[in-house]
Amino acid sequence: MRPEILFPLFAPVTSLKGVGPRFAKLFAKLGAAQVVDLLWHLPADIIDRRYQPKIAQAKDGAIATITLVIDQHQKPHNPRQPYRVRCRDETGFLFLVFFHAPGDYLAKLLPVGTTRVVSGKVEHFNNQVQITHPDHILAPEDAAQMKLIEPVYGLTAGLSLRIVEKAVDAALERAPALDEWLDPAYRERRSWRDWRGALRAAHAPECAEDLLPTAPARQRLAYDELLANQLALGLMREHVRRLAGRALAAKGTLRAKVVASLPFLLTPSQKRAIDEIAHDMAQPQRMMRLLQGDVGSGKTVVALAAMLDAVEAGAQAALMAPTEILARQHFATLTELAAKSGVEIALLTGREKGRNRAELLERLRSGAIGIVVGTHALFSEDVAFYDLALAVIDEQHRFGVEQRMALAEKGSGVDILVMTATPIPRTLMLTAYGDLDASRLTEKPAGRKPVLTRILPADRLDEVEAAVRRALDARAKIYWICPLVEESEASDLKAATERYDELRRRFGTRVGLAHGKMKGAERDAVMAAFAGTGVDLLVATTVVEVGVDVRAATVMVIEHAERFGLAQLHQLRGRIGRGDKQSVCLLVYTAPLTATAKARLQILRESDDGFRIAEEDLRLRGAGEVLGTRQSGLPALRLADLAAHADLLAAARDDAQLVLARDPELKTPRGDALRTLLYLFGRDHAVRYIRSG
Ligand code: ADP
Ligand code: MG
Repeated sequence: MRPEILFPLFAPVTSLKGVGPRFAKLFAKLGAAQVVDLLWHLPADIIDRRYQPKIAQAKDGAIATITLVIDQHQKPHNPRQPYRVRCRDETGFLFLVFFHAPGDYLAKLLPVGTTRVVSGKVEHFNNQVQITHPDHILAPEDAAQMKLIEPVYGLTAGLSLRIVEKAVDAALERAPALDEWLDPAYRERRSWRDWRGALRAAHAPECAEDLLPTAPARQRLAYDELLANQLALGLMREHVRRLAGRALAAKGTLRAKVVASLPFLLTPSQKRAIDEIAHDMAQPQRMMRLLQGDVGSGKTVVALAAMLDAVEAGAQAALMAPTEILARQHFATLTELAAKSGVEIALLTGREKGRNRAELLERLRSGAIGIVVGTHALFSEDVAFYDLALAVIDEQHRFGVEQRMALAEKGSGVDILVMTATPIPRTLMLTAYGDLDASRLTEKPAGRKPVLTRILPADRLDEVEAAVRRALDARAKIYWICPLVEESEASDLKAATERYDELRRRFGTRVGLAHGKMKGAERDAVMAAFAGTGVDLLVATTVVEVGVDVRAATVMVIEHAERFGLAQLHQLRGRIGRGDKQSVCLLVYTAPLTATAKARLQILRESDDGFRIAEEDLRLRGAGEVLGTRQSGLPALRLADLAAHADLLAAARDDAQLVLARDPELKTPRGDALRTLLYLFGRDHAVRYIRSG
């Protein structure tokens, strides 16, 4: 249970004065549904209001805070003109200018003859000094309320800085004094303040340096977050270690038979990965292993080998994919690869219904089915196994930690193998998985030619289309990828559809369209026609990202390449170059490109190494962007910046390990404070895994 001292922070933002349901919706857009989220919403900039000149000295364009006497209200003659309020001090006049402001409101705010402290941007206009829509207007006795150095927060349409600032201030008021969870010696060495002090300081920056990730207050908060993250992962790992595992007794006969029947030789890293996994599975502890490898590096065979070991040991294995398409493809591939094994493989997705499904479930329960491939439908309550011993999770960054555990709970002592094609930089690996054992497939299967990558501006689209025509004439299959992101989904979808219409006019019925909003069956039909016959040019949004394996595809056009993450582009590109023909990827960007954006695309032209690309992307863009945090399922870090705080991450990991070694039940006073830290950062699930004495 969350400690009571944190209750005020985990109340909805509407519990703050001045935040009603209408604003709450807008705050939600900023990622602030609860009060605590506002604490993590750190300033992005500052406005310096310390310049306090007399009117005559006030410089054009400067932010100034000026004490004035209200002199005269000048109402507009027609509504398009501004309402002006003439003010003065001993050196001259200054006009406050308001557009579309109700006069009676202004009359109340600025009564003639009173003194007001006003802050805003000074403009010299037609030989007059003016401030349009001042940021602050205060009576002299309230002037102290105004921050002379004002934090500037990220906003969203409809939320003014004033409202966000007020809400953040109210949230800060609620921040309780909490017992210190940091190691005292470490905190001393870093000269950090206590949590609340650091929080307040982070929201009260006094200069530009205070906004940098290296500012002590920000470092402390980032460290807190990383410590919570590492501790949660450590607890999870300890929990899994303690769960009874089982030693699977398989000699590897079944898998040897299948490997011998393959039309290719395994690469050295495939062999190594298979051995590592077999070794883990033979141990009495549970396996928790990550299998990392670029698209096309051959993870499926490795997973199959592991699953066959489970079957040979008399148990069952499940492979879970994030999408229907991918589950179907895995099913097809595995069925083909494992033909020689005699093992029954089944497919279970949301689309299996009625009698078929009932029969399938029965065969799963009886153990007749050795390997089942599916989507999250595998979690359904009515799915029961005869004896599930291995869960393979593909493209796992789309699944949360919780889901991983849920599948594992369908059996006893279930070994877990997580496959990911997203090359994850080491730092991100640590925050996402902790110190998970990892096998990496580093080389591509033999006979693959690297993809030729070209970068072109959108105004050379006619060249692109000419190249496409040549490729079509040469009987190539072509992907044409259009971006689709949640924020601009409707317009993106329209752009993709329009591109499809245009290409269809040009190239006829051999053009197909696939996107995530289509009916599953309809989309599958298009994909099937692209993999087989009928469709040669497939216009697609990123549904193909984790999907299909089409050998004949040798050309990929990616529009608005600048809008994709590098890792995502790399993954998309991995969909071509699967056969022995030379493949070409055309990255089409829309000008103008920033220097960073250009540098990012260059990396893709130069490198085919997913890990290098991911590291560079992290360096150039920061962690939040690398995987597209929203879809990634990775824990979103709000305060830590992995590129800037790598040293803190390493320290937090060591710290967490030490804590778990010395105080695994978190029983000491520091342990107690650390529990609160876990709750503070929403790692409630991890608390469940604390060992109880
Ligand atoms: P991944 O899942 O890592 O993206 P796959 O397992 O789908 O890659 O493999 C891509 C393709 O390469 C498949 O058609 C597979 O049969 C083939 N393949 C796998 N390993 C090898 C190998 N060692 N040599 C040649 N082809 C291979
Ligand atoms: Mg795959």
